[in-house]
Amino acid sequence: RETANILGVPIDIVTNESAFEKFKSLLRGEKCSVIVTPNSEIVMAASKDERLKGILKESDLCIPDGIGLIYASKIHNLGLTERVTGVDFMYKILSYCNDNDKSIYILGGKVGVAEKACKNIKNKFPNIKIKGFRDGYFKEAEERKIIEKINELKPDVLFVGLGAPKQEIWMNKYKEKLNVKVAMGIGGSIDIWAG
Ligand code: UDP
Repeated sequence: RETANILGVPIDIVTNESAFEKFKSLLRGEKCSVIVTPNSEIVMAASKDERLKGILKESDLCIPDGIGLIYASKIHNLGLTERVTGVDFMYKILSYCNDNDKSIYILGGKVGVAEKACKNIKNKFPNIKIKGFRDGYFKEAEERKIIEKINELKPDVLFVGLGAPKQEIWMNKYKEKLNVKVAMGIGGSIDIWAG
């Protein structure tokens, strides 16, 4: 894995195309792989927070979502050439799932938001299998049940929209327990899909 070290955070040196190839290989894996899409703000926060830095380092794919990271890379010659935004990446994943009989689950957003996002996704990608959704405002005590439900449904891709860095912390905490192929932090993309 080739990475650009920005403020101590390794960001994968990928293009939109190579990042997507990596996603497809993660989808074929056995364990739950985690995709994170940090922007400069998150990288800055991680540079001052060892725990968050460790969590980003432990991800399986860390894509540069944020033009600031590309500028930093250009200035210091670190090898990042293009921005790979979470919202574009999610769109491609949805399109791929639609075409390849893969399933998704969306966790996050205010009550009703994930449901609305799912409706709009289904309109755009009629063949996609949406296994379920739930809002992102729950207590820690409810998390075991949430994981059990997701594991019963076994979606190929779990989108987690709890805002950064909450979603990154959450995915890192539960990746060993989740019976999904890929978990990806999507932040505000959930609201974009809900429209
Ligand atoms: N969110 C959530 N649970 C939380 C906090 C946030 O589901 O405990 C959702 C929020 O409703 C929104 C999304 O996470 O849909 C992104 O939140 P925010 O804009 O704060 O994060 P960012 O996009 O800046 O990472």
